[in-house]
Amino acid sequence: MTAGIKPHLLTIVAFTAALSTTSAQAPATPDSLLVAAKRAAGQEYAGTFLRICVAPDNAAVGGRGGAGRGGTTPGAGTVPDRATWYARPYKVFDNLYFVGTRIHSAWALTTSQGIVIIDTLFDYAVEPEIVEGLMTLKLNPRDIKYVLISHAHGDHDQGAALLQSRYGAKVVMGDADWASTLQRPATAAGGVPKRDISVGADGTTLALGDTTIQIVATPGHTPGTLSYIFPVNEGGRRLMVAYSGGTAFNFPRQRETFAVYRDSQRRLAEAARAAGATVLMSNHTEFDRAYDRARLAQLPRGAGDVHPYETDLATVLRYFEMTADCAEAQRLLTN
Ligand SMILES: [Zn+2]
Repeated sequence: MTAGIKPHLLTIVAFTAALSTTSAQAPATPDSLLVAAKRAAGQEYAGTFLRICVAPDNAAVGGRGGAGRGGTTPGAGTVPDRATWYARPYKVFDNLYFVGTRIHSAWALTTSQGIVIIDTLFDYAVEPEIVEGLMTLKLNPRDIKYVLISHAHGDHDQGAALLQSRYGAKVVMGDADWASTLQRPATAAGGVPKRDISVGADGTTLALGDTTIQIVATPGHTPGTLSYIFPVNEGGRRLMVAYSGGTAFNFPRQRETFAVYRDSQRRLAEAARAAGATVLMSNHTEFDRAYDRARLAQLPRGAGDVHPYETDLATVLRYFEMTADCAEAQRLLTN
């Protein structure tokens, strides 16, 4: 360390850098994580930040409590007024079509060998949105080969049994979510799908024709939540999507669950980084503004205008930085 002047200076610079790195890694507190998460969220993810970092559904004190908001099932037998949820179907990328409601997303990913449906909505929406939506888009529901369920809550999985029984589609779900699904009574809304493909903690890949979907196990929101990395085509360019399969903290408050959620977000961030993802998607339109973006994608784009879903890798990674920090903040706040 005491060699010539220049090396000595370099050593000081390196040592100072190391010191500042160390101080940046001082033990995180709920407040420091809140600040970091807010910064990471920026404007793009402000709504999600407020939902999970400021007023999480499972907040111990002063929150909404329980699993009310974004709940998993509407009141038994009730169908909300169609005017409050129905959305037209939209072609959003060359190979990806929005067939969701104004509130919940469902997507049709087209391949050279058929269609993959990602999430299936409440039972009352599967027919008007997915089945009729595909036909409006000149796609054939009989071409549905796979149905990917991000997690076993009614707002995403109640349509699965119909697509399986009517079209022979194979339903894909995480191990733990199959376990809870198969315990439902036969009279459950939408019926109960039969177990087809079950994905464990290591994830898997699903290939159909010219398209490969990387399935990443991201337990937390539910024990079997799955997330996805897949390609979309946009005017001759290929973009990679990171699709986050579970977001809200509407699970019982337990330190371990927040840790699992946090680690899942980091794992998905690494998969997104490795794939060079520049599109972030979610399965509630409030988290990725899917309904707005689907409609914006219909408008003509001038030279230099980017697709309403296209961002850059750094922006995609900021989403996961925020979700991981919010989960860690809640973990620290939980006894
Ligand atoms: Zn859910």
